[in-house]
Amino acid sequence: MNVEQLWECLAKLQPVSLGHMPTPLEPLPRLTEVLGGPEIWVKRDDQTGLATGGNKVRKLNFLMAEALRQQADPVMTTGAQQSNHARQTAAAAARLGLPCVLVLRGSQPQPATAPQGNYLLDTLLGAAVRWTKADSIMDALYAEAEVLRQAGRKPYIIPYGGSNELGVCGYVAGMAELWWQMEALSLDFDVIVIASSSGGTQAGLALGAQALGYQGHIVGISIAEPAEAFRTHIADLANQAAELLELDSHLVPGDINVDDAFLGEGYGVVGDLEREAILLAGRSEGLLVDPVYTGRALGGLCERIRQGQLVAGQRVLFWHTGGIPALFSYSEALQK
Ligand SMILES: *Cc1c(COP(=O)(O)O)cnc(C)c1O
Repeated sequence: MNVEQLWECLAKLQPVSLGHMPTPLEPLPRLTEVLGGPEIWVKRDDQTGLATGGNKVRKLNFLMAEALRQQADPVMTTGAQQSNHARQTAAAAARLGLPCVLVLRGSQPQPATAPQGNYLLDTLLGAAVRWTKADSIMDALYAEAEVLRQAGRKPYIIPYGGSNELGVCGYVAGMAELWWQMEALSLDFDVIVIASSSGGTQAGLALGAQALGYQGHIVGISIAEPAEAFRTHIADLANQAAELLELDSHLVPGDINVDDAFLGEGYGVVGDLEREAILLAGRSEGLLVDPVYTGRALGGLCERIRQGQLVAGQRVLFWHTGGIPALFSYSEALQK
């Protein structure tokens, strides 16, 4: 189908508009030169505009439209202490006049330590924060929602990362937006590289790509998940969104390209890969990437170039998904 037809399917869900879109699509000539491989561009979803931006804004355009329809009281979601998703949800709720409760992993930081990074922003944005040490943060979220329901309220639950069929639609829309930009600039990308964690971003891009007939590859640099089960999960998410949008697309795990070579010491642990990528982007382009997601994804992209998997003559898009506030809670790890 063409991009206008895809856009019509998306518009039926009546998304709200929380951010600054289209986000810029920019070349990175100095980074390209330093790495000596493919021509590298960046899609600036770190600049989606809502409370320092990030990829969850696109998902929240669709999720918060539903929260409004259901008169959510409150909007609820969950994540790590430094969750970008939680912070963007808190901002979206504030902007739409809805109360917000966040269930974050861990225990309340000691009063002696001032809130940092995303958690600081959560508090400034007016979200109520609950802490959980449960193994499953989703179970903790459901339990907290049940307490509120018993008290007569009407919680609207957004899953971890905003990755359900509605959230995925945000990145189908993201792919349509990129398509328009590529058409306007007569530009094509052989490969799109993205940080992939709860999978919704990659699912949306992959679905949009299939619907539009995009010929390049979308490579998700896995942040925390082994590739095999993750591919199946992403394909499932894409297919649920396809059904919601009434697209006759169908993805199988083999359509999903996940690279799990950069899991390092685990989720949120900064190693040399991330540190070097942060310094490289900062010093070659004045571009900030974050310690948890985009630092790892850009590090993975650099490593693929060093290993000859991405080469001169190709054009690569690094889809920047945000995460900048987390830099301020990793100052020690980044000083090494
Ligand atoms: C959430 C997040 C991702 C991962 O997106 P998913 O849709 O969860 O895979 C990547 N980068 C940043 C900065 C994020 O906050």
